[in-house]
Amino acid sequence: MRYVSTRGGGEEEGIEEALRRGYARDGGLYVPKTIRELEEGELERLSRLQFRELCTEILLWFASEELSEEEVRGVVQSCFEGFSSEEIIPLTMLSGRGAPEDGSVLVAELFHGPSMSFKDFGQQVLCKLLNMFAQKKKNKISILVSTTGDTGPAAIMAARGLEALKVVVTYPHGQISKFQELQMTTEDANNVFVYSFQGGGDDMDAPIKTLSTDVSFQERHGLAAVNSINIGRVIMQSVHYFWSYFRAVEKLKLPVGSSVDFALPCGALGNAAAGLLAKKMGLPIRRIVCGTNMNDIFHRAISSGDFSRHDKMIRTLSEAINIQVPYNFERIIYFLSGGDHKLVKDLMGRMSETGRIQVEGELLQSLQENFASQRVTDEEMLEASQAQRSCMLEEDYLMDPHTAVGYAAIRRSVLLWRAPGGACKDGNVVLLATAHPCKFEDAITEVGRGGRERGGWRRSDLMWVRGRRRGGREAVAQGGGRGSEGDLCRRWERNGWRRTKRECDRRASRSS
Ligand SMILES: *Cc1c(COP(=O)(O)O)cnc(C)c1O
Repeated sequence: MRYVSTRGGGEEEGIEEALRRGYARDGGLYVPKTIRELEEGELERLSRLQFRELCTEILLWFASEELSEEEVRGVVQSCFEGFSSEEIIPLTMLSGRGAPEDGSVLVAELFHGPSMSFKDFGQQVLCKLLNMFAQKKKNKISILVSTTGDTGPAAIMAARGLEALKVVVTYPHGQISKFQELQMTTEDANNVFVYSFQGGGDDMDAPIKTLSTDVSFQERHGLAAVNSINIGRVIMQSVHYFWSYFRAVEKLKLPVGSSVDFALPCGALGNAAAGLLAKKMGLPIRRIVCGTNMNDIFHRAISSGDFSRHDKMIRTLSEAINIQVPYNFERIIYFLSGGDHKLVKDLMGRMSETGRIQVEGELLQSLQENFASQRVTDEEMLEASQAQRSCMLEEDYLMDPHTAVGYAAIRRSVLLWRAPGGACKDGNVVLLATAHPCKFEDAITEVGRGGRERGGWRRSDLMWVRGRRRGGREAVAQGGGRGSEGDLCRRWERNGWRRTKRECDRRASRSS
């Protein structure tokens, strides 16, 4: 497979260069030159594969010219050793009061990897491939990552101890959870370097881009950018759409080929772009329902074509998606426009000059056909968590605040679609659960407080959350996680748990 820039400049590259460079030479993003579409009957065949086989096969479609099947198989094997679930991505069906009346919501848990967020998928594969390439050439690669909280830990856990890689991570001071911060700062592998900076989630994008497109600097330091501008992550993430789709139709007893909707919280749009890529390959995804928080640029783009940067990043409880300009929008418009380099170059040029573009005509129409979106406030997110918490006693389910943004988006979108004259009657939705709730203590505590009118957390809820979190700790322990991570969970249990409980007791005594 050859890779080209979304903006049409520079040269075609193979997968190794595309992964290593991150950005294309003309400042665009790499995309596969052609997208392999599924052949007749192929979906059926893929549906019977084990996760690792599916992953190997899809990766090979994108890399067969440069990598042997043996090599890809080996990389895939090493990537999923640290996962705590045998199925890699287990699916849980939600129904009942928290879910839309008819149709089902299936939660695909993408957080059973070593850092407990979906970003483990992309990072594991990417880092292991980069390491392999570097070892073959007997050189070294430095990975530069800025993180809104989950990319950093995922990159660190994927790259720690790999001989040919060095990882440098930066994160916005005070804007990630304590858990995430500790996941990074307690890492003592000697190829890992972690720094914090003052600013917002995407303030590091520009400097990283400057370094990554400075060819001489890049060569001198063997620099690679592994944020979701990296096509490797997008490719790998398309695999979890395939897998979740197959398990969902299986659970719903639908024939392979039936269409389903996907929903997810959206930040830099890497995951959304991966969904679109999977759809382009022929996976029957009807619509991708995107939840944004108040940093709603993608929601505005879908609703009215207004893709414009707001002056200020808004702090929210779902900080991993506090993104002002999602860089994968560029890939999305590339795919939607059928690979119109000129259009992409035009639009992106205008975006970087003026900070705003207006998407119009066919492109807007296509955006609206493929995506639906909702802007979700913290209150609505908490309410969705609450609704889902009240059914949780039957369902046994608690979401992290990002997944809850996706869930809130489903509740609103699907209800709209089902209204008289709405777009569809059935509505089976796969919700991508992007992180384990135990990573976001403050927000989860807030869910408990949010039920104020209803008396806050009930004791049974608390017991449940505790059990759930213990599940999280076990996940870390089983996941080959090290002592320090187990300690993190224990710490969380001690402090977070007490605080939540104190809050609960205080409310209980006040109301009695
Ligand atoms: C990164 C992240 C997202 C957003 O994913 P994008 O691919 O950047 O849109 C959502 N949820 C969690 C928990 C994340 O860490």
